[in-house]
Amino acid sequence: MQLRIPGPTPCPPQVLKAVGGQMIDHRGDKFAQIIRDITEKLQKLFQTKNDVFVLTGSGTGGMEAAVVNTLSPGDKVLALSCGFFGDRFAEIPECYGAEVKKLNFEWGKPVDPDAVRKALKEDAGIKAVLVTHNETSTGVTNDLKAISSVAKEFDKLVLVDAISSLGSIELPVDEWQCDVVVTASQKGWMVPPGLAMVSVSKRAWEAHAKAKMPRYYWDFTKAKNYLERGQTPWTPCVSTFFGLTVALDMLLAEGLSNVIARHARIADFTRRGVKSLGLSLFPEEKYASNTVTAVKAPEKLTVSKFLQVLRDEYQVVLSGGQGNLSGKIFRIGHLGWVQEKDMKEVLKAVSKALPKASA
Ligand SMILES: *Cc1c(COP(=O)(O)O)cnc(C)c1O
Repeated sequence: MQLRIPGPTPCPPQVLKAVGGQMIDHRGDKFAQIIRDITEKLQKLFQTKNDVFVLTGSGTGGMEAAVVNTLSPGDKVLALSCGFFGDRFAEIPECYGAEVKKLNFEWGKPVDPDAVRKALKEDAGIKAVLVTHNETSTGVTNDLKAISSVAKEFDKLVLVDAISSLGSIELPVDEWQCDVVVTASQKGWMVPPGLAMVSVSKRAWEAHAKAKMPRYYWDFTKAKNYLERGQTPWTPCVSTFFGLTVALDMLLAEGLSNVIARHARIADFTRRGVKSLGLSLFPEEKYASNTVTAVKAPEKLTVSKFLQVLRDEYQVVLSGGQGNLSGKIFRIGHLGWVQEKDMKEVLKAVSKALPKASA
């Protein structure tokens, strides 16, 4: 089976073996050792000296944590969206009573840093900028370095959804001055779902001290106090912690720059393969993501049937489009535990399934 959706992603056998381990006391010494080890290794891969917390929940939980820990009801925030997940990031502060100014970009196009500058110039009251690094729904990677740098010209707090990029695409958290950065275990980290990993800058802690949005489960103060004792405030997803220990060792042994280069190489291979089948990429190639390739469905292709044929006849699982893009694109995930040979198999299956699902 080739599971090539943009998360959950396949886990290496060593990780699967680890997640099958017997339960331990989450208030005991062994767990304390595991969480301290994981935290230190994540700081290396986030390229940060900031606090890093491993929260039990999916990526969206991490996004909610970023918002409720740094903002107050009535705060004005600038939410940048170029797709389905950018829309989600805007909905969360809205739900908690913030005043959300949304800057929308056409799906398939990236966020324009100059438009961000213009929006921040026009409204001095904005407190935070919310941005999706890698928009998984459209296969676009935003220029986070430029966007964050613009936000910092105006001294804004920068909250980043890096769920499908961190650990796979370059994102030096400290160098790019990102205040809260969120990722999730089931994407490039080669482990099952269950954990959101977040980094919290000094600036974010200052915002946290004044932030009045209601929070309990996601409270960073609680996470920090417990981490000092080698614990989490609530029962953690212990099995995924076991898997993460092994996966982080694998990533560090390969080396972050090699991991990033492998993703770039495989993405390039995938894009060339797709084009050689006569298909077109959905986004402009310049902004195409190195973790997920979004492909335009040709006029005559029925995407739902195509995905079904791939699954039933070729044991290849890909994703369709989300929201407005349903039926219009399909997406190939190439993040985490992936090599060129996997994409060769996927592309071969795609070439065979295309005529079977075309009118
Ligand atoms: C997967 C994903 C999410 C949602 O994560 P969940 O773990 O499903 O909650 C959010 N943003 C991006 C960019 C994603 O790729």
